[in-house]
Amino acid sequence: MSLTGKNTTGYEAHDPSVLSHAKEIIDQSPSLKLVQQEVVNAVKRNEIWRGEECLNLLAPEAPTSPTVRKLLSAEVGTRAAEGHIGSTQRWFAGTKYIDEIESLCVELLKKIFHSNYADHRLIASMLGNMTVYAALTKPGDPIMTLPQPTGGHSANRLDGPAGIRGLAIYDIPMDPVELVVDLDQFEKEAKKIKPKLVTLGASMTLFPFPIKEMAQIVDAWGGKIFFDGAHQLGLIGGGQFQDPLNEGACVMTGSAGKTFSGPQSGIIVWNDPELTKPITDTIFPAIAATHQVNRVAALAAAAAEFLAFGKEYMAQIVKNAQALGQALHDRGVTVLGADKGFTRTHQIIVDVRNYGNGLTMAKKLELANIITNKNLIPCDKPEDWDRPSGLRIGTTEVTRLGMKETEMDTIADLIVSVLEDKQTTDEIKKKVIDLRSSYQKIHYCFD
Ligand SMILES: *Cc1c(COP(=O)(O)O)cnc(C)c1O
Repeated sequence: MSLTGKNTTGYEAHDPSVLSHAKEIIDQSPSLKLVQQEVVNAVKRNEIWRGEECLNLLAPEAPTSPTVRKLLSAEVGTRAAEGHIGSTQRWFAGTKYIDEIESLCVELLKKIFHSNYADHRLIASMLGNMTVYAALTKPGDPIMTLPQPTGGHSANRLDGPAGIRGLAIYDIPMDPVELVVDLDQFEKEAKKIKPKLVTLGASMTLFPFPIKEMAQIVDAWGGKIFFDGAHQLGLIGGGQFQDPLNEGACVMTGSAGKTFSGPQSGIIVWNDPELTKPITDTIFPAIAATHQVNRVAALAAAAAEFLAFGKEYMAQIVKNAQALGQALHDRGVTVLGADKGFTRTHQIIVDVRNYGNGLTMAKKLELANIITNKNLIPCDKPEDWDRPSGLRIGTTEVTRLGMKETEMDTIADLIVSVLEDKQTTDEIKKKVIDLRSSYQKIHYCFD
């Protein structure tokens, strides 16, 4: 079977060779108990490799505290709690303790984001965006969002929730060198398009957005700003980035498992009571039914530790990203945003055209146990997504493992050794495993 479709079973999105390997295991295994053991073994292999031996520099990841991780397998995760918090608001009886868990979660989120309202039931931030588009727009409405090469995410494009909603999607003009919104050009285009909603926030994100200025522009026709803070959520909650709700965004979504460092899922916060009904009517019964109460408990636990340690933790993440940007720049690597201090977030973006492309470099780094991701950068076209020119590097995980600026120098040396073939990837991998061996404990938590 091949990806070009010459097989008898039709189109398969997943790599057919990987699937057929799994099918072989199932077909050839003498018992299903052994098949189950194969699953457990693969989880264990990942835990040792990614959990203990790799430098995980993926920007959308964060390690959770032992308490948060433990709660993810709690008994409460087998309970159904459809509906809103409170016994008369639920479909099912037996939810008194679940109400306690969920209300603690909501109140902790409100406290972190200084918001009037928060919801905890989104099992992914993608569904938060779906909620916003369903609640605040009608099919055919014009919206403006960021294209992928300047940091946009499918969540707000034609191939994601905004596209499913049938919205007319226009690009927010970006300055391709500075990686910030081109405000003059935005004003010109927005006045013509009159977007109902302008979505800010990005997956490739280095600097703050001019939310206040953009909100003033779109206010002329009743347009609103939606901040998709998937990546920056923790930085925002920890006071290390801009504060979108306070600067004029009417609603913010975010991933609980990115910088926020909780269980992978989504949150949504807003202030205007007028939005409460459309948003919560969309969440339930449209987007969430059984919303994984174990995950909500883990989110509440993560929120409590975030209130205690978030500020210090998030500040160190940004310091580490800036230090890593500087260290790579000093070693001759092209890092975006160099004239502005590289970054104000957990990310740095590296242009690897001198060495190959983003795909080949990410694969080579992986051979040395350094995990990053290929990324489109402004010189790329959206269709270059499989072989883009950039790498995105994030410092959330290494920071939570206790690394500081000094270790960023060591990491830069390791990355450059791979990019410039200074040693074999096997030799560098040994050094990575050695470095990781002294950073195994999760910091910034009560455990
Ligand atoms: C990661 C991301 C999402 C999706 O978040 P999930 O929690 O993975 O569902 C949405 N928007 C942006 C900008 C992102 O970077």
